[in-house]
Amino acid sequence: MSTARRYPETGVFYRALDREFPMAVRGEGCWLIDDKGRRYLDACGGAYVANLGHGVSEVTDAVAEQIRKIAYVNGTAFTNEPAELLAAELRTLNPKGLDFAYFLSSGSEAVEAALKLARQHWVESGRPGKHKIIARTPGYHGNTLLALSASARESYKKMYGPWLVPVTMIPAPYPYRCAPDSPAMTADALEEAILKEGAGTVAAFIAEPVGGSSTGGSVPPRDYYKRVRAICDKYSVLFIADEVLSGSGRTGRWAAIEHFGVVPDIMTLGKGLSGGYVPLSAVIATEKVIAPIANGSGSFKHAQTFSHSPVICAAGLAAVRHIQKRGLVQRCAEMGVVLHRKLSSLASLPAVGDVRGLGLLAGIEFVADKKTKAPFPRKLKFAETFVQAAQEAGLIVWPNVSQADGENGDLVMVAPPFIISEAEIDELVSRFKTALDKTLEACHVHR
Ligand code: PLP
Repeated sequence: MSTARRYPETGVFYRALDREFPMAVRGEGCWLIDDKGRRYLDACGGAYVANLGHGVSEVTDAVAEQIRKIAYVNGTAFTNEPAELLAAELRTLNPKGLDFAYFLSSGSEAVEAALKLARQHWVESGRPGKHKIIARTPGYHGNTLLALSASARESYKKMYGPWLVPVTMIPAPYPYRCAPDSPAMTADALEEAILKEGAGTVAAFIAEPVGGSSTGGSVPPRDYYKRVRAICDKYSVLFIADEVLSGSGRTGRWAAIEHFGVVPDIMTLGKGLSGGYVPLSAVIATEKVIAPIANGSGSFKHAQTFSHSPVICAAGLAAVRHIQKRGLVQRCAEMGVVLHRKLSSLASLPAVGDVRGLGLLAGIEFVADKKTKAPFPRKLKFAETFVQAAQEAGLIVWPNVSQADGENGDLVMVAPPFIISEAEIDELVSRFKTALDKTLEACHVHR
């Protein structure tokens, strides 16, 4: 097998058509190894996915065993044991009342299904006028067309504008760039939007409880979601917590919304739910959401061939049990403190404007001017240059751009597997500094 290849020499096409990729051949704990034997610290679990680390035999064995027993059954004819057991396990972990799980394969699918569930809830509750969605900017919920409509990612949306549906956007709480008493931070923006649209037309508000890539791990004020919950209750709007990235233990609680002491009506999980061993996501809803549908048409109008597949649920079950057996959510909280203490040393470096996050989720925002917080011009491609330099230094991080003003803005995310050790965090910080030096040089930024 030949090694690093690029389009069009290979039959695979990736997102970046202009890059040559190394060939990953093995994973060990927090490390990825390529076919030349180079080791990379997987400091973002790929894309916030490899939460358990690579090579957990409980999960690989569970998948193999399930495939041998039954590879596939369809959810219209049968239930299956892994799906039942995983739903039961999640009931013990999810915020109280989030009891019913619908399993799918990707975060986008889960968001898509969650939004449709909210809409169907209102139609079958006799309120068909409620169809509008409110989401936040910056914010991201996926790449299928409804999930993309609810995402504030202009670079992804521009091309497909004619196919997207209108979604009302309110500003996200982004403490580095928002005043503490601004409508974004107090959630007044949500109430204003509902009143402007007309409460009788609004079906759901969707938000990432703790910011993912879009706001670079921004943590909303402590009372933000209490106010969101009160507003949603007042105007009969369903609150969807998109925990695809922040959930499954990443912030040191099973669901990030738990830090804020409120329960959403619908929650989505994905990415790390199976530790990345298979593609698995879930829409989880309360009885209140599902009851009108159960008592009405009797069927959720959303069909996907691989929903509730026993193999993906077996992987999820093994992953969730592994997390519990090893106390990995607690570990995330504890190592999160270590991670943030060590990352705070980056704040004094040139171009580092802010370091923030919660648990093992951290965002490092780069700026051209630390005093004014002015971002680099987008054409400099600071974040992309950094990610490339980091990979060359054997460190994998996740970039995000445009968050500062919709066009400019550069940040990178760090979200390592929950098993990361203190020595590996030191290594992460050291490689980060090497990558930053290289980036400053490549982008001709004065120190
Ligand atoms: N929701 C959030 C908060 C995400 O961060 C993502 C992906 O990054 C998604 C949904 C979409 O998930 P997927 O890429 O698995 O479709």
